[in-house]
Amino acid sequence: MKVYSRTSFPLPVEQLNAMVEWLSGFTENKGSGVTRLLYSEEWLEAQEALKRKMEEGGLDTYYDDTGNLFGRLEGTIDADSTVLTGSHIDSVVNGGKYDGAYGIIASFLAVEHLYRKYGRPSKTIEVVSLCEEEGSRFPLTFWGSGNITGVYKDKDITHIADKSGVSLKEAMNKAGFGRGIHRLPYRENIEAFIELHIEQGSVLEKSGNSLGVVTHIVGQRRYTVSIKGKSNHAGTTPMQDRHDAMTTAAELITYITAKVQKADPHLVATVGKLDATPNVPNVIAEEVSFTLDIRHYDEGMLEKVCAEIFQHVEVVSQEKKVNISFSQWTDVKPVEMDAFLQEKAIGVSTRQQLSFQKMLSGAGHDAQLFGTHCPTSLIFVPSVNGVSHSPEEYTKAEDLTQGVQMLTELLYEMAYDKGGEEK
Ligand SMILES: [Zn+2]
Repeated sequence: MKVYSRTSFPLPVEQLNAMVEWLSGFTENKGSGVTRLLYSEEWLEAQEALKRKMEEGGLDTYYDDTGNLFGRLEGTIDADSTVLTGSHIDSVVNGGKYDGAYGIIASFLAVEHLYRKYGRPSKTIEVVSLCEEEGSRFPLTFWGSGNITGVYKDKDITHIADKSGVSLKEAMNKAGFGRGIHRLPYRENIEAFIELHIEQGSVLEKSGNSLGVVTHIVGQRRYTVSIKGKSNHAGTTPMQDRHDAMTTAAELITYITAKVQKADPHLVATVGKLDATPNVPNVIAEEVSFTLDIRHYDEGMLEKVCAEIFQHVEVVSQEKKVNISFSQWTDVKPVEMDAFLQEKAIGVSTRQQLSFQKMLSGAGHDAQLFGTHCPTSLIFVPSVNGVSHSPEEYTKAEDLTQGVQMLTELLYEMAYDKGGEEK
């Protein structure tokens, strides 16, 4: 049976791979993965090169004042309301070639192909290369999507600086942004945002599916748990007389892990950092603090499990004769992806016989910010061995191309269906 696909084109495996390699060349440390930090020289070169590439492909380009780059195909019928597609151009230090970059490349190739074959769409499509997502240079994340969606609207950034003391404002100005030269980033005319991204986990690789249609991006809460006991001699203090912060921490970590495992298969909790004082072998620990990162797609589930953990902490605090306090420093709500767009993505995948599944995203993405602002769709392609944020990051060419194929068809249905003309 011939697969129905209006937009199928000789899948540009070589073109796609070549573009991934090309974009990965804009990096600070050549030879050790991709390091492309916000407003750095490499970052600006990458945005400028993408801008030229978009112009060669026939798109009208512009920046907003935070440095998000857009390639626009104006709609013939509806010029204002925009179907936006893309991902982020920044990377972590020594990251991979695909994180963020793949979403920009896929969007560009899809839109360039549609333009070549059908001319201008009836509804405006824009490819976006978002300036920042990772939080690798400055202590803030989602700087690109956060400005477009208004999250950073009234945020005071004067005190935000990188490790060398360069302020965000200074770096932004040096790169040519934040001076009012370009248009304001905030947008209210985005009809839909579609992001293709590598999974950065191993769900798709295990299932053998090429595409993951994300239903929810999980919510995240982070706490620091501080336990205050009494330090004393390791040899002369009987076990029953101790106020031991370390064994209390051990008991709590064991309890939390078991509790979370029992509560729900999608609930995950991590204690990734622990500090002990005085941290010497022959003294009972006086103070121990550890971090707790807990994630789920349902806010109600997070609320319930955290409340039960806090109740148990009270009991342990009395039993172990120590003080325990919790402070929360992250509270990111779960975000549901748009149901209509999910159905559309599933319809396209089914008709094109692309293997797909619905799934959750355990990591944060720009789609999370767009998801509370406009209808949003997040689609994953597999990561080999689930590896990401590493030079080892890799996605097979056939999976990359299936993602582009699906996005092309999806964009056609959303922006051309009302009358794009075949060239
Ligand atoms: Zn990413």
